[in-house]
Amino acid sequence: MTHTAFTLGTPRDMAKRVFIKTYGCQMNVYDSARMTDLLASQGFLAAETARDADLVVLNTCHIREKAAEKVYSELGMISRLKEAKARRGGRMIVAVAGCVAQAESAEVVRRAPCVDLVIGPQSYHRLPELIARALKGGGAAILDTSFPVVPKFDYLSKAKAPRGVTAFLTVQEGCDKFCSFCVVPYTRGAEYSRPVVQILAEASNFVRGGVREITLLGQNVNAYHGEGPDGKEWRLGALIRGLAELPDLERIRYTTSHPRDVDHELIDAHREVPKLMPSLHLPVQSGSDRILALMNRRHTVGDYRLVVERLRTARPDLALSTDLIVGHPGERDDDFQATLDFVEEIRFAQAFSFKYSPRPGTPAASASGQVPEAAKSERLAALQLLTAKQQREFNEACVGRELLVLLERPGRHEGQLVGRSPYLQSVHVAAAGELIGQIVPALISGASASSLSGSVTKVVRL
Ligand code: SF4
Repeated sequence: MTHTAFTLGTPRDMAKRVFIKTYGCQMNVYDSARMTDLLASQGFLAAETARDADLVVLNTCHIREKAAEKVYSELGMISRLKEAKARRGGRMIVAVAGCVAQAESAEVVRRAPCVDLVIGPQSYHRLPELIARALKGGGAAILDTSFPVVPKFDYLSKAKAPRGVTAFLTVQEGCDKFCSFCVVPYTRGAEYSRPVVQILAEASNFVRGGVREITLLGQNVNAYHGEGPDGKEWRLGALIRGLAELPDLERIRYTTSHPRDVDHELIDAHREVPKLMPSLHLPVQSGSDRILALMNRRHTVGDYRLVVERLRTARPDLALSTDLIVGHPGERDDDFQATLDFVEEIRFAQAFSFKYSPRPGTPAASASGQVPEAAKSERLAALQLLTAKQQREFNEACVGRELLVLLERPGRHEGQLVGRSPYLQSVHVAAAGELIGQIVPALISGASASSLSGSVTKVVRL
């Protein structure tokens, strides 16, 4: 969960204040940053807390039940703040954005009458207009959850560059895959790829503002097929090559991918584009073909194995991470054992594993063979024991190596900076603050489950 804040040159006492709270994935982080920029252009200043805000935006996540429930409990607290502000003669507008807004728009207003505005992920460019309507309105909530994805990007891409060394850039939204457990095709709509020219312009803008590493985002990013400047369709591999031409952009990553959409152009980019970092998040979800079919994943264990072999041939040091679900309806002990065996075989640098939880409206939610909670917990614990061991081993194998680290921010201790290795690990080094934004070689001397530590061996450039 991330809090987004911004500043603006407007005098403090004249400005309205906004507090944006972001739940869930990097797509939401990107969207919140663009909403922040858009609202800044309308004169909104950052509020440190919801209590200080005239406008509160919750940018929500619907991927798991717990995430949606967190939003409702937050709205209970915000409702009390809104009432307190009204007693002081003030006014607070409460907006719910993101995937909960899209999936449960009427339900949000029913469960949380304090909400003035429910806005789906494709309507953020209309925020200023909708806020103005909410301020004028007689109290009835405004719901805007249509899917006009093209205008959204036309507006949001004009936003100013993010602060910081690394940035997310959404290149694709939506998904046509309809995995049995997933709400994305219902909350973000059909696949849409932004035109290459628009992405290059936004990336150049980011780089001019000091960004050195861009992570291309999409719910199914490697299904990207945007219109190129030559009028032809460009796939993700071609887009990466286009971005690699930007002189001051040092590193490119992308997430999240689907095994079916890893094509030869993308594999070639991993082999031939040095700026494309050797880390890849490629969800497999299960190691059982029977469960993959029930999940409607449209790939088998064999397909996944083949893709990984080809990727590792192209880029032998590739750090592979994945998502795994245990306890999908119909999963038996032998299916789960197949998942353990497959994880053992592939060896992941990192894995995110979850117990299956039903999302209303998805096919798996009403499927027979729901797995008891106790069995899910037991399986998750066993799986996480294995994936944590693999992650630790991957990190420990880096000790004694010199890795290029992009220094991003100050660490918790005086004189310490934190950066990222090519493999996306956090690396702590002793270094002066002015090196933030530089890529430096660091000799790795320590590894924990989640990070590395080392010392800078030489400053490459200043
Ligand atoms: S490919 Fe990913 S985003 Fe699309 S339906 Fe499956 S899990 Fe959801």
